Amino acid sequence: MARIGFIGLGNMGGPMAANLVKAGHEVAGFDLVPFLCDEARNNGLLVAASARAAAQDRDIVITMLPAGAHVRSCWLDIVPAAAPKTLMIDCSTIDVDSARAAHDVAAKAGLASIDAPVSGGTGGAKAGTLTFMCGGAAEALARATPVLENMGRKIVNCGEAGAGQAAKICNNMILGATMVATAEAFVLAEALGLSHRALFDVASTSSGQSWSLTSYCPVPELVPASPANNAYKPGFAAALMLKDLKLSQQAAQTSGATTPMGAMALQLFQLFASNGHASDDFSGIINMLRGQ
Ligand code: NAD
Repeated sequence: MARIGFIGLGNMGGPMAANLVKAGHEVAGFDLVPFLCDEARNNGLLVAASARAAAQDRDIVITMLPAGAHVRSCWLDIVPAAAPKTLMIDCSTIDVDSARAAHDVAAKAGLASIDAPVSGGTGGAKAGTLTFMCGGAAEALARATPVLENMGRKIVNCGEAGAGQAAKICNNMILGATMVATAEAFVLAEALGLSHRALFDVASTSSGQSWSLTSYCPVPELVPASPANNAYKPGFAAALMLKDLKLSQQAAQTSGATTPMGAMALQLFQLFASNGHASDDFSGIINMLRGQ
């Protein structure tokens, strides 16, 4: 049993922290939203009065926050309050520079840290089946692993500080681009009089296969759990895909990598989200490609 601090109890952090309680840990949680603190209390967390208080006297402190600026300011606030042996873990999806800056804040205070963004969405957070992509020192990851295993099924060591975030944004750039390409193929098939079923049966067993096709197929009734079966709600919100594509393009610019497909996917999801579909599943972009 570990003493854990958990800061950011939203759609992802709330169920992740609840799974830590279920695994037998003592979890002190904090969120700026009082309702989420009440919910956490009902899930067995000890609710702290502030982020600093949640980070005090803990073996491990986990943050699950919206963006890089939140993580930077939160870690500047909480790291000085943490006990000397505390392991700091950030599970938010943020830019690589902010992740490295957070590692630096911890290192200057003598604390071990890892960046450990997740994939698997809110369903994976509830079910405890997330994938963690981790960056940081091997000893820090070894300490984190048993606790991450209480919230996820797969823990991947991606390398040095920031490598977890780098893996996350590269993966999601593939996801954004393949979803657009998959949706385009169905739109072309419709124009050519080819049935959805025929394209699916061919592409799902051929070189056109991808997760976007076989797990989140953008047309309904071909894949059991596809958000398309339920009018593109709920799912992986287009706003979150847009956020991750922005992070990938920001990283491409600062690193000098050439990513034209990622840039095009960003433009298309920007248009889709700004046309009132920010909360729709991102596979709904097929309707925009149809001109609807
Ligand atoms: P969310 O907005 O539901 O939760 C974030 C929470 O952080 C909010 O409740 C907010 O009040 C709280 N917060 C912000 N600043 C704080 C502070 N200083 N102290 C305490 N609490 C603070 O977002 P989410 O969907 O839970 O996502 C969290 C992170 O996980 C994001 O970085 C997101 O990109 C990433 N992510 C989300 C999903 C998803 O499907 N929702 C999937 C993978 C990764």
